[in-house]
Amino acid sequence: MERKTQQVLGYDVDLMSFNEAISFVETNMSENKGLYIVTINPEIIEYSNKNKEFKALLKSANLTVPDGVGIKIALKLKGTKQETIPGVDLAYSLLKSATNLKKPVALIGAKEEVIQKAKSTIKNELNGINICYSHNGYFNNEENEIITELISSNPSLVLVALGAPKQDLFIEKCRKQLPNSIFIGIGGSFDVWAGYVERAPKFYQKLGLEWLYRTIKQPERLKRIYKTLPLFLFKAIIDAIKYRWNMCLKGRK
Ligand code: UDP
Repeated sequence: MERKTQQVLGYDVDLMSFNEAISFVETNMSENKGLYIVTINPEIIEYSNKNKEFKALLKSANLTVPDGVGIKIALKLKGTKQETIPGVDLAYSLLKSATNLKKPVALIGAKEEVIQKAKSTIKNELNGINICYSHNGYFNNEENEIITELISSNPSLVLVALGAPKQDLFIEKCRKQLPNSIFIGIGGSFDVWAGYVERAPKFYQKLGLEWLYRTIKQPERLKRIYKTLPLFLFKAIIDAIKYRWNMCLKGRK
């Protein structure tokens, strides 16, 4: 499948529906083709501007989906309509895909009790899932050991929940040695599946206001948002003006 993308502040964002994203990944999974999936949001973009290594990693993704309303707005400013694809939903659907395709899954990240609870929720809900490896996300010296264990478990799908950029740097260390695996960084998704963090009600999700709900519930997130969102939106407006101006010039030729 040819990638249809639109740039947001220098990043190629894939333009596809949630279901198209799932079927794209499923095709790769059934053919044992490796992928690196990034769920991009304004925070990640702003952070990557301060970290070249992280930026290069993000740009090497095979699939970049808009996680959150900020990217949706940036695309809309350029005249592109795109639904948001929340990482937590995408990851859960990929677990279903792996179960149906009988492919092994690895889970890495979050606190020990969180990953244990998330694992039991997943096992209860997805009958027949094969979790071939799991580890909590609080390791320092054991990283090499964990990578060796992960490689020998040979998973088709690897969910890494360490938060950005940690999860992406971890994925980079494993990717070359697991060329047939699909990697995705999923932030706090295990906390959601374990029942420690509540998803916003559907009403908020539909309006793209999940961030608002999470900020009300966890006010400490406000610091992260106000540091990144206004600057991101300002840059996105300038980016869109430049884009529209160039399109206008092209149209005149
Ligand atoms: N985490 C981890 N190891 C670390 C730092 C964080 O496993 O060294 C986990 C943390 O427990 C949480 C997730 O990474 O489960 C990050 O969640 P956050 O809410 O920051 O991610 P977001 O969903 O905002 O991207």
